Amino acid sequence: MANHFVQDLRAIARGLSDDPAEWPYIPCPTCKRSGLTVVADSLVMEEASQSKAWHGREDWDPEFIYGAFRCVMRCYKETCDLVWVTGRTSVYQQNMRDGYQDLLHPLFFMPELPLIQSYGDCPEKIQWAIEAASPILWVDPSSAANRIRAAVEVLMDHEKIPKNDARGRVIPLHQRIEQFKRDKPEFSNVSDLLMAVKWTGNAGSHGDVIRVPDVLDVVEIIDRTIQELYDTSAVKIEQKAEEIVARKGLPASQIAQLRVPPA
Ligand SMILES: [Zn+2]
Repeated sequence: MANHFVQDLRAIARGLSDDPAEWPYIPCPTCKRSGLTVVADSLVMEEASQSKAWHGREDWDPEFIYGAFRCVMRCYKETCDLVWVTGRTSVYQQNMRDGYQDLLHPLFFMPELPLIQSYGDCPEKIQWAIEAASPILWVDPSSAANRIRAAVEVLMDHEKIPKNDARGRVIPLHQRIEQFKRDKPEFSNVSDLLMAVKWTGNAGSHGDVIRVPDVLDVVEIIDRTIQELYDTSAVKIEQKAEEIVARKGLPASQIAQLRVPPA
């Protein structure tokens, strides 16, 4: 199943207008089925004191302006949790005609936004390990990439790929993925995808600059991986089709009645 959340998160990563009516679709963390809207009058923006002080400088330019914002968002379903959002603001000039506009960059969503729309039959411990990247995605993308790398270790554990060698030493993730590829050659494409997740996570640990869109690339890759490994919906649909053909289209209830021996 396509993960539309990643596209929504990419739109958020490009920055939000100061007019909430222009915000992209922001998925509800509670029901994962609806989009959030900003609670009326809850959006507050404040220029930073340092930014205000800079106005007096000779070389001042409107693009020096920065500050913070907060707002509250809600789903149309009343039972869903309110979502509290905070972040920073900047100013940019889209074109000469429109002048300067505020741009809002969320740093925290509380509760955090979901990364993957549907996990199918993916084991919960792998789901939790992936979603652990969400709370820090916006404020620390490098650490978020590292958490998704850690989720690959959890996936290897689940697939019973040894984490220690005969002498008790920790086996590097790279070698574990290679072992997975040897053990399950039918999933060799999955191994290649997991290796890409590992490299991005490594880059995050080594201080390389990882941006939110880079992490979202990795989320898409691990999403594809778990769909390949654990999404049995396509198999289930094929099984249903085979059953319907076997019954020649008759409803299962009628088949059950036909099997009852005549009195
Ligand atoms: Zn909701």
